[in-house]
Formats: sequence, C-alpha cells, structure tokens
Amino acid sequence: MKETGWKKTAGNGSDGKRTEGKKSFGRGEKTTGFSKNSAKVGVNGEKKGKSARKVSGVEDKWGTHGDRKRNIGEKDGQKTVRGGQRGKTKCPIYRECGGCQYLHLTYDQQLKEKQKRMEELLGGVCPVRPIIGMEEPYHYRNKVHAVFGLDRKNNPISGIYKEGTHRILPVDSCLIEDQKADEIIVTIRSMLRSFKIRVFDEDTGYGLLRHVLIRRGFTTGEILVVLVTASPVFPSKNNFVKALREKHPEITTIVQNINGRSTSMVLGDKEHVLYGKGYIEDELCGLRFRISSRSFYQINSVQTEKLYGKAMELAELTGKETVLDAYCGIGTIGLIASKHAGKVIGVELNQDAVRDAVQNAKKNGITNAQFFCNDAGRFMSHMAARGESADVVFMDPPRAGSDEKFLSSLIKMSPKTVVYISCNPETLARDLAYIDKNSTYKIQKIQPVDMFPHTAHVECVVLMSRKEE
Ligand code: SAH
Repeated sequence: MKETGWKKTAGNGSDGKRTEGKKSFGRGEKTTGFSKNSAKVGVNGEKKGKSARKVSGVEDKWGTHGDRKRNIGEKDGQKTVRGGQRGKTKCPIYRECGGCQYLHLTYDQQLKEKQKRMEELLGGVCPVRPIIGMEEPYHYRNKVHAVFGLDRKNNPISGIYKEGTHRILPVDSCLIEDQKADEIIVTIRSMLRSFKIRVFDEDTGYGLLRHVLIRRGFTTGEILVVLVTASPVFPSKNNFVKALREKHPEITTIVQNINGRSTSMVLGDKEHVLYGKGYIEDELCGLRFRISSRSFYQINSVQTEKLYGKAMELAELTGKETVLDAYCGIGTIGLIASKHAGKVIGVELNQDAVRDAVQNAKKNGITNAQFFCNDAGRFMSHMAARGESADVVFMDPPRAGSDEKFLSSLIKMSPKTVVYISCNPETLARDLAYIDKNSTYKIQKIQPVDMFPHTAHVECVVLMSRKEE
C-alpha cells in the first residue's frame, strides 16, 4: 500500500462514531497543505506539537457523539481561545470537567471562534459559509452517560471521570445534557442502597453497577435507560425496575447491558431487555427512527435537522439517482434521501445499527433502500471493482475520518456528487487533501453547523462535484 499518512489509532466509545481502530492521520504530522495554517491548528483549536499528541485517537469527554470521557485537547482549547470570563462560567465544575471548552465565551463569541478555526483549516480550499448556530444552546444532549463508583466513605457516586484520571467527579446536572436524563441518574443513585445494589469498584473488581446510559427521543419523548453491570446476575432487578418506573413513569424501556471487561468501553456485547421494547423511537426530518443502545444517533436533534437539511439541499437530488449512504448508522441520511432518489444503498459496520436501518426502512414504508453490514472501504472497493457506481455518495465517517481504501474507490467510482459530513474538521481536511490531490473533484461548498455548543467541536457538510471534462 502506498504511504498515505493514515495510521492506526486506538478508539473507544459505545456508539461507533469514533470507536474503530481504523486508519487515521497522525496528529504530529502535517495535515492538509490546503492552507498555510492548517498544519498548525488542530481540531480543538490547539496548536500542533507536543500538546496535540493528546488529541490523537482519544475519545472526548462528551464525545461529539460518544461517551463522557476525558476530553481531547480541552486544555489546548482553553489556552488558545482568549477572551470571555474564564473564572465565571455558569458551571461549577467547568475546569475539572473540561467537557465545555468554550463555556467561558458568550455563544456569539463561540460561533465566531469556530468560524475562524474552520476558515484557517479549510478556507484554503473553498470559502467557508457562515456557521449555523443553535437558538437555545443548552441541554441539547439527548444521550447522557454517568459512571458509577464509591466516594472515600463508600457512598455511591455518579458522574464523570476527572480529567486525566479514573477518579469520579460527581455530577447531578449539566448545562448541555438532557435534564430529565440527569434526574433519572440521580434517582437511580438514590435507590441503590435500599435495593442493596453495590456499585462496581474498578480497583477491587467487586460490585455490580458500572454505568448508566440514557437516551431520550427529542420528538417522541421516549426514554431508554441502560444499566451497565459487571455481571449478568442482577438479584433485585424486577423490583428495582418496578420502583424506577414508579418514580419515572416517562421511562419507556430499560435494558441491562453486561460489561465484565476492564476496558474504557462503556457498553458490553450482551444485553437483556428488562422492560419495554429495548429501544426508543424518534422522529427526524419527517421520518421515524428506531434507535437501540449501541447504535449511533446524533446527540443534538435540533441541529441534526439543520445538518441533514443542508446535506439534502447540497445533494440536489432529482428522484432518479442511485444514492450511496456510507457509514450510514441507523440509515437516517439514506432514508431521508430515499424520497428524492431512485435507489439507496447504505453501508455500516455496526450490526445493531444495520438491523435498525432495515427496520427503519420498513417502519417508514420505504422500499427503495437496502442496507449492508460491512466496512465502508471494503464495500466501496468491491463496488468499484465490479464496475458499479452511484450518482451521489453521502459519507459520514467517525472522527477518525475515512481511509484510503474508501477514498480511492470513491474516486474510481466517480459519482457526480459527494456530500461529506464530518464531525472532525482535521480528518476532514486530510481526506479533502487526498481527494484534491488524487482526483478532479472540485470542493464546492463547506458549511459548518454547530452541533456541540460550548464545546470546541464543529460539524461540517462539504459538497464536492466531479469537474466536467
Ligand atoms: N450517518 C449516520 C451515522 C454516522 S456515525 C448518522 O448520521 O446517524 C458514523 C458511523 O460509521 C457509525 O454508525 C459507525 O458504526 C460507522 N462506522 C465506523 N467505522 C466504519 C467502517 N469502517 N465502515 C462502515 N461503517 C463504519
């Protein structure tokens, strides 16, 4: 294989957006060559170099889509973004948590900062459109995760890992998380003692409850509670579930996920449905989607409507096209596009998500969409080798970005239009540089969308079209 600059990174996370040990660009290396600043500025606005190494392959605190984990380069974000009132943010644990790198800035300043960074990183290739902000930029996270542990007096606590450690920082409420989800986590913690449920102790390996993950459908209000336990044996589970439902009748389903491994992954592979259907449904862009615990789903529903709306607008579908939805998750983008396309093919690595995608097509009466469980790069290279093509390709890879296999097959397949949706501007810049260097695609439009207010993260939609010979 040709030397490309992609290399393996470690990843984790429960929902796939940045889970895979895929090939990805080394942060210490030069990135794009598109703009004179691009190699110096990282995804979080951090300067490249020593501190940039922290960023590589590490899940961020909120994850743009993932779990609450130690953040990537949050310090760097704080250091490089001046102004604002760093000492006086609305959050008492702003510094220790590090999840909201931009909380010391007004929302307007945050948007300006993100716009500036995108222009520095991507502006060399094509003008960057003004970022689309959020009207009410609080409590937008529809997925909330809490780690459970013990304090020094052996009382159960729940919250997040303190920066760079495995010490738990107690959190009862958070400015960007769904408030109902936060309430349910506090309730669960308060019930543990009376049900004699011990929380898991990472040092000794004793105890049962490790994490709680909550997902709430923005439109439907449906709530999924995932209790992550270290072992399948959950003695008081029926009574516990009954009592939790009495306290929170709004919960629509409860799942026990078993994770006995000592990894930083939140979710294990085995699950038992304790109550309800085991997944939630939500509505997005006029369609209804089923979302299970391990499938990826955008965490900011309000902004997702705008993001997908933009992606559709840029694709300019006429109703005849063959559309490929690569890294399709539960099929959202492809199914939304299916109304305006001849045929949709979706490809996704996570089996649960593919199952959801197939069900989602049925649920919405969509008959022109097919979904495949495969590595997107492998799938594309097979398609290209068989001489098959698509007119429009939507690609929405995890934070690690795409890989050479995918991109080289994409170029070989030569769809008229490519819409690249990215949650990591740095890997986006790298992939665009590859496409620019190796093809005749022209990068036509770059549209940032603020999916993650108060954090340093930025989502972008990019339109590329084949240059007409
Ligand atoms: N387009 C979807 C999902 C985007 S998240 C949406 O908007 O909801 C990225 C998705 O890529 C995740 O579902 C993840 O499981 C999947 N993925 C990660 N690596 C992949 C690979 N190598 N091939 C195919 N899918 C992959």
